[in-house]
Amino acid sequence: MHARVAQDALLVRRSVARKGPGPRQPLSQRRPKIAQVKGAPSPRIPKKSPPTSKVRPAAPKPGIPTTLQTAPQRSRAPKRIPQANLGRHAAEVFEKLFALYPDAHCELDYQNAFQLLVATILSAQCTDQRVNMVTPTLFARYPDAAALAAARQEDVEEIIRSTGFFRNKARNLIGMAGAVVDRHAANIPATMDELVLLPGVGRKTANVVLGNACGINEGVVVDTHVQRLSARLGLTSQADPGKIERDLMALYDRDRWTLLSHLLIWHGRRVCYARKPRCAECALNTICPSAFRV
Ligand code: SF4
Repeated sequence: MHARVAQDALLVRRSVARKGPGPRQPLSQRRPKIAQVKGAPSPRIPKKSPPTSKVRPAAPKPGIPTTLQTAPQRSRAPKRIPQANLGRHAAEVFEKLFALYPDAHCELDYQNAFQLLVATILSAQCTDQRVNMVTPTLFARYPDAAALAAARQEDVEEIIRSTGFFRNKARNLIGMAGAVVDRHAANIPATMDELVLLPGVGRKTANVVLGNACGINEGVVVDTHVQRLSARLGLTSQADPGKIERDLMALYDRDRWTLLSHLLIWHGRRVCYARKPRCAECALNTICPSAFRV
């Protein structure tokens, strides 16, 4: 009996081997490999639970208000100062900055309006320290507008080369000096309208000259530091320098405009850096809407 069963099984195996596995079924008709019991719930792949963080919250830092350290930071954008509080906030910003930098001033070296105008043109895309390194040679060789107007471009370029964009700057310096000689009897004009018509002179440069060399508060100098700090400190929500200047002029009395720009520039150079502002050490971190958010 057993021998017969074994023989039948052998015959079946040989028959299957001769015929081969047969035609493959289309994909839509193939059965799943996992047998499913009728009526039983379909098998489910268990979901992975999110990994739990093992990072402990940092210990509070000494010297920084706890509210500033532990406040949940949903957004890195600075909080807006309510319009009703903006005047008081602006005054507080000025007072704190003035307490920090009572002797804030223009850091370009100059002795008259002509020298300051030249130095300010050179300071575009360049540090004041670098400008102060080249101007002694430049002023010794070209002490006034008439001398600079008669200069050869390549000689000026050679002196100011290290300030960057030297060809353009040399062309503007000689052009500005020529216009001052031709239109203003070699004297630097003391109005915004006349200054901005000189080659290489925009509103920012004119504000520097008027505010510092002429003692005229015509506007607020909006350079990269003033632009950055006035936004971080909640003094403006504008990005355009002209609109920022208008906001600052509306917030502060005219006699503070020149000093205000020095205070913001000094703080931007010493504490409120563009990339890594030193909020933990900043004397304004209790009133600054961007503190620890930048
Ligand atoms: S350093 Fe920080 S706290 Fe100070 S003004 Fe800049 S963003 Fe505000």
